[in-house]
Amino acid sequence: MNFDKLKEIILKNNSFVITAHVNPDPDAIGSEMAFYKFLKKLNKDVHVINHSPTPYNLAFLDENNVIEKFDPATHSGIMENSDVLIALDLNHPSRIVSMKESFEKSKAYKICMDHHTDPADFVDLALIDPSYSATGEIIYDMIEDTQLAELDYEIAVQIYTAIMTDTGAFKYDRTTPKVHMIAARLLELGVRPEYVFDEIYDQSRLSRIRLLGESISSLKLDESGQIAYQVITQELLDKTQALESEVDGFVNYCLMIEGVKIGLLFFELKDGVKISFRSKGKIPVNKLAAEFGGGGHVNASGTRLFGGKLEDYVADVVSAAKKYLNMEENDDI
Ligand code: 5GP
Ligand code: MN
Repeated sequence: MNFDKLKEIILKNNSFVITAHVNPDPDAIGSEMAFYKFLKKLNKDVHVINHSPTPYNLAFLDENNVIEKFDPATHSGIMENSDVLIALDLNHPSRIVSMKESFEKSKAYKICMDHHTDPADFVDLALIDPSYSATGEIIYDMIEDTQLAELDYEIAVQIYTAIMTDTGAFKYDRTTPKVHMIAARLLELGVRPEYVFDEIYDQSRLSRIRLLGESISSLKLDESGQIAYQVITQELLDKTQALESEVDGFVNYCLMIEGVKIGLLFFELKDGVKISFRSKGKIPVNKLAAEFGGGGHVNASGTRLFGGKLEDYVADVVSAAKKYLNMEENDDI
């Protein structure tokens, strides 16, 4: 990836707003905080503003509460008057939900850094490459390439968290030799893998584990045995007192079953349904998600649907998923 233009923009501007996608995951928060700390080393004026609050298991990445939750009254002006807006770990303006309008209206120079497929055309500078394991890996390359500020532990722990989680703890397809080389460098800077893993995955509230149990109990297989799906209703959420952000990762249990190639999680929101799609091999669930207005990666995608009934969405999506089962050996469809 070429960072010359980005370097030029950073050098000649002073005020920056960084944002990431709705329901931020560790790659979103880690990339934002790494970029924030990098820009602060250059004495820039920086705001990090998100549509969603930061999930509690990611609070350790933002100990000083730098990240602000978007409030139009306070933040529209800031976005309007900033020199540069930077969108991370997303490539479509709908992914910033309530901030979309302010983002689009702003006259600031707009940058997108991301690793998802099928980008929308909504920025002045798009640094997007789906071969990257995580947006955090792009940030790493940027820091190394531009040589504007030194990589230190504070930044390293953010980037490590981003890469560790987006590679499924170094097991997914895009876990390249380069990813391990970067991880090695981050460990040299003092990152402790057991600390990061524990903060992210092993500090759940009991309610989350209870909900996981309920969700796994609800798991069903389609008649082919190759599609597994879980349904989480508002009723179940009320019963367990779990939070929406706590469902992150549940869908992966679908793929632990032998013979299952596609995993789906239907999560009933107050006013709609959020669907997570996962697949093994080359099955492009991003295309399946796109049929329902969403997107993402080949093996991990999502969408949100509003207005219909939960049962109908389940029936429609499971039925649509069937035609993707045989796409494993066919890259082109
Ligand atoms: P998850 O199922 O973990 O929420 O999301 C998996 C991936 O799907 C995310 O990394 C993101 O790329 C994509 N994704 C999730 N929700 C949406 C959505 O509502 N719209 C789009 N376009 N992509 C989504
Ligand atoms: Mn990511």
